[in-house]
Amino acid sequence: MSYDNNNIFAKILRGEVPCDKIYEDEYVLSFYDVNPQKKIHALVIPKGKYTNLDDFNENASEKEILGFFRGVTLVAKKLGISINNGNGYRTLSNIGSDGGQEVPHLHFHIFGGEKIGKMVKND
Ligand code: AMP
Repeated sequence: MSYDNNNIFAKILRGEVPCDKIYEDEYVLSFYDVNPQKKIHALVIPKGKYTNLDDFNENASEKEILGFFRGVTLVAKKLGISINNGNGYRTLSNIGSDGGQEVPHLHFHIFGGEKIGKMVKND
């Protein structure tokens, strides 16, 4: 699947669409989800053009991969929900159609600030 430059997160990265920013560095951008599912619902995205986790792991550099995963913990710390300074959180990444992915730019959801509940709820 080729990368769609017009996806909403690509537009956010280019500054064409605003976001409620939490954290940014060379490798990641993090912002609040526009439709929060939990008390805290953040998103972390890599700066590079990767459609999903498989694309990222197959094609990103080691620096990008390290920077991205370190970024998740940096964001959790900033939100006060990491194991070091809070009660923990859940990460989730939807991949492809069966995974329920809507935006075709790799993103990790971070849910926290309250008990997150069952891992997978059938609906
Ligand atoms: P997914 O279903 O894993 O692809 O999740 C996409 C997420 O992006 C959803 O939780 C949306 O609420 C969120 N989202 C879509 N557009 C925006 C936006 N402009 N700013 C912040 N979050 C967004």
